[in-house]
Amino acid sequence: MAGSALILGGGVTGLATGIASGFPVYEAADVPGGICASYYVRPGRAERLSAPPDDGEAYRFEIGGGHWIFGGAPDVLTFIDTLAPGRRYVRHSSVYFAQDELYVPYPLQNNLRYLKDGIAPRALAEMSSRTKSDWRTMADWLESSFGKTLFDLFFYPFNVRYTDGLVDRVAPQDAYKSPVQLSLAIRGAFQGTSAVGYNVSYFYPTDGLSALAQRMAARCTVVYGRRVVEIRPDQKRVVFADGSEEGYERLVSTLPLNRRCWSRTSAPRRALDARPTTGCTSPTAERRFIAWASTATSIPCFCRPPPATPRTA
Ligand SMILES: Cc1cc2nc3c(=O)[nH]c(=O)nc-3n(C[C@H](O)[C@H](O)[C@H](O)COP(=O)(O)OP(=O)(O)OC[C@H]3O[C@@H](n4cnc5c(N)ncnc54)[C@H](O)[C@@H]3O)c2cc1C
Repeated sequence: MAGSALILGGGVTGLATGIASGFPVYEAADVPGGICASYYVRPGRAERLSAPPDDGEAYRFEIGGGHWIFGGAPDVLTFIDTLAPGRRYVRHSSVYFAQDELYVPYPLQNNLRYLKDGIAPRALAEMSSRTKSDWRTMADWLESSFGKTLFDLFFYPFNVRYTDGLVDRVAPQDAYKSPVQLSLAIRGAFQGTSAVGYNVSYFYPTDGLSALAQRMAARCTVVYGRRVVEIRPDQKRVVFADGSEEGYERLVSTLPLNRRCWSRTSAPRRALDARPTTGCTSPTAERRFIAWASTATSIPCFCRPPPATPRTA
């Protein structure tokens, strides 16, 4: 990359960009990793520690909830394993229905034999008579894929929580997490089926996620405690909470798009609001956003209609 460049955000995206480019990473927190990080709590205490205490007497939690590193790009897996060695694990996960004290192995739709009498045949009849294909929201897609019975029983209430209440507004996404295959659903109504899904096996660093983030951070220049409060693309300047400013030729922002740092005078409101209000969450849109930030010469349109088919990337 020619000229000066700034990378905003020291989560895994910003750290990887910092390693690849050699340019500095500006991070608001005093530790790296963003939501892909661990923290530690001593038994009976509430204080969060970013590293395990010397005596090792602490529980480990993760900021983003449970993280299992999945995916198959050999270069990436080798890179991660070199920095923070770990193990591969086989997934054992279930849906828990508290009222019935019932565990149904994931994915629910392929294990209908666990459900109360009458649910499996009804669910299969609904799944096999799917006709709708013009769904616009994730809720629409889930109901049309799995039928009303499974939608009401599990998919809707679960995804309300999973999307933080946006399931009726965002476009269908993460289809790979809810695989739809009628033949497996039918088989699973009577007998066991083989494990499917995106994380049948996964990797986890022995020393926790923070070890990975910290070792990535050690390979690049991270400036901690620098919270961006404003980005002025027209002036090519970034303003930090402590009042300092940095100029740039190119800017790579990995900040969550719902953090409004873009100067109101230079960033169109439509772009600022696009992700939360249109369900436009595609990586392409994010790339365009970054491209726009770095050049500040054109305004991308994020406000596309939701895709006609669920994304599987
Ligand atoms: C609950 C949950 C579970 C997940 N599970 C998995 C999983 O099992 N496997 C998997 O591969 N992925 C999982 N993911 C996705 C994965 O965590 C994210 O894709 C990844 O961590 C995003 O990294 P990032 O660097 O893009 O963003 P972030 O981690 O959000 O990093 C952004 C960084 O910017 C910083 N920042 C924010 N505002 C400012 C500011 N104003 N100025 C300066 N810095 C700022 C933040 O402190 C943060 O460090 C999960 C995500 C969640 C939420």
